[in-house]
Amino acid sequence: MEFPVKHCRTCNIWRPPRAHHCRLCDNCVETHDHHCVWLNNCVGKRNYRYFFTFVSSATFLSLYLIGASLAQLIVYMNNENISFSKSINHFRVSLALIILGVFAFLYPAALMGYHIFLMARGETTREFMNSHKFTKAERYRPFDQVSFWKNILAVLCRPRTPSYYQFKKAYGNGDQRLGLHRDQRPRLDSRGLEMDAVKPTSAGFQGPVALRGESQGEP
Ligand SMILES: [Zn+2]
Ligand SMILES: [Zn+2]
Repeated sequence: MEFPVKHCRTCNIWRPPRAHHCRLCDNCVETHDHHCVWLNNCVGKRNYRYFFTFVSSATFLSLYLIGASLAQLIVYMNNENISFSKSINHFRVSLALIILGVFAFLYPAALMGYHIFLMARGETTREFMNSHKFTKAERYRPFDQVSFWKNILAVLCRPRTPSYYQFKKAYGNGDQRLGLHRDQRPRLDSRGLEMDAVKPTSAGFQGPVALRGESQGEP
């Protein structure tokens, strides 16, 4: 199938398949899933499984919190032979923890379910969202491994390739590491495609004429 390969002008690279430029991180990210505002970082090729582990462990942890708190109330109720409301009255914090657990469960559980669905389809969040632009007959999943389990294994067990960032490398002009410095080097041949820096023909606007004399020490 046809596959468009795009050039990233900011990173100065030809983007590999599935890579996208994140404007918040200011660099291209391989197998870009999404930029997570909670983590303040992109989720992509190298950290997707950690993101998924984080989301699923948060889900299981809140389930455990609900279960353990509920167990404490029920065990106390049975041991003391009292009603459930009396047991709650004795362990009020347990009730608060159950309520907290329910709220802590909902969002990570929804996210976990959504990502299991995406992994099974062999798609990233980005690809899934973009697929809605096309009619159902025109939606392709080129990275689908055909089976549900193979897709999940392909995502969670793929090798963790080395980072392209070299954090200890000396700073050079156009360094992208901190996302702060654009490439200041002049473009040698733009072939009329780039908006080159145009030198002004006159000195340009320099403030009110009346003030201009004063700054030069004239009356
Ligand atoms: Zn880029
Ligand atoms: Zn990002």
